[in-house]
Amino acid sequence: MAWGFSTEPDFQHKLDWMREFVRAEIWPLETVFDELEQSALDELYAPLQAEVRRQGLWAAHLDPELGGQGFGQLKLGLMHEILGTSPLAPNAFGCQAPDSGNSEILALSGTPEQKERYLHPLLAGDLKSAFSMTEPDTAGSDPTLLRTRAVRDGDDYVINGRKWFTSNGSIADFLIVMAVTDPEARAHQRATMFIVPVDTPGVRIIRDVATMEHPAEEFGKLGGHAEVLYEDVRVPESSRLGAEGMGFLLAQQRLYPGRIHHCMRWIGVAGRAFDMLCERSTYRVSHGKELGRHQSVANWIADSAAELQAARLMTLHAAWVMDTEGVAAARVPISLIKFYGANVLFDVIDRAVQAHGALGYSCDLPLEAMYRHARGWRMYDGPDEVHRQSVARQILHKYAPPADEVPSEHIPTRRAEAREKFASMLSAATADG
Ligand SMILES: Cc1cc2nc3c(=O)[nH]c(=O)nc-3n(C[C@H](O)[C@H](O)[C@H](O)COP(=O)(O)OP(=O)(O)OC[C@H]3O[C@@H](n4cnc5c(N)ncnc54)[C@H](O)[C@@H]3O)c2cc1C
Repeated sequence: MAWGFSTEPDFQHKLDWMREFVRAEIWPLETVFDELEQSALDELYAPLQAEVRRQGLWAAHLDPELGGQGFGQLKLGLMHEILGTSPLAPNAFGCQAPDSGNSEILALSGTPEQKERYLHPLLAGDLKSAFSMTEPDTAGSDPTLLRTRAVRDGDDYVINGRKWFTSNGSIADFLIVMAVTDPEARAHQRATMFIVPVDTPGVRIIRDVATMEHPAEEFGKLGGHAEVLYEDVRVPESSRLGAEGMGFLLAQQRLYPGRIHHCMRWIGVAGRAFDMLCERSTYRVSHGKELGRHQSVANWIADSAAELQAARLMTLHAAWVMDTEGVAAARVPISLIKFYGANVLFDVIDRAVQAHGALGYSCDLPLEAMYRHARGWRMYDGPDEVHRQSVARQILHKYAPPADEVPSEHIPTRRAEAREKFASMLSAATADG
């Protein structure tokens, strides 16, 4: 039997170390993050990153020949559950989005020169990157509509377009830009990815868009979502990733494992909110008893525990399918957790906010920030509706209409067939009667 729910003792030991390290070294940073410049943050992270390297946990998403640990999705999932407890933790482990996904694209499709110039420094933590696909003027849910163009000009390409929500774009050294190279090609073969250093003439990082996640206007800080204008940006052919028209294929390769990591990170966030919900339920007294002894709150605790468990097992299962059968087999499990996890884990945070009343709504607890961040889960890497549609479409491929449109389970039809099949026994029973 290959089914199992235990973690190898050696790896469990690493996870235990991570849990302790993240709680002791990263969680405190959250409370002073807003007071720190990016340069001070980089300084603070440096010794933490060195310690993670010493523990053999740096950039665990990539293979050892690329400087990673080659852990596979299941182990990575378990790691991300711990890293997810703080938005600042992945950066200490060299597996923060979007760098982790970008390094996967570079590993998959980069030329030896591209790997030397971008991938190795990215993995070493010497460069930062961003992924620039979504545009303000076209539906990000349907990237076949992209308008940003990359036009051939001799040995170069010239890129023009406007992007936004290029996460970490304002602190990146280079951007991976998705642009249309052949508007006449089949829908999913029109776009190509390019590596564009941010100091290339014509690249203008206009602003970090203020969001529910970061409502205050600020610029040039980890976690910002940049609006970027590309005006006659000239890049050499050697900056193209993969062949022309391969952009969508590469994007999918990047997004599938990324979704597993996101979902596990959300479980980490929601798990922290769940602990707060439970703690509050033990001591806050209203109408004669602790909150946890009121039926509604007891139901929240039980429902949250069930939903966390369901989301966790579904996510680990998706990771296991990806490790054992590959990306194609994992498409439905990954879409399932993407929308299921985004919704049920958001609900866990919502209940924790409610249980804390005004305190939960206030900025004296991290719950309100978790709540705001969590609202984005239902959108990025594909909105719920698109994942649901994709799941239903793939499931329906396994079904065909029944003969004469009579449902396969139609009891009168099945009864007539059964009467024929068991005719001799039925007639004997009738004769006996
Ligand atoms: C926090 C955050 C970080 C992000 N980081 C990045 C990044 O680093 N790089 C990057 O390129 N992009 C990034 N994005 C953008 C993200 O990928 C897009 O927001 C997403 O793809 C949706 O595109 P859109 O915003 O244009 O919404 P639209 O495509 O306009 O969709 C709006 C809504 O329409 C509905 N809808 C769309 N299609 C369907 C359908 N087929 N059926 C039913 N309903 C539908 C959905 O409710 C959807 O939410 C980020 C977004 C967020 C919120």
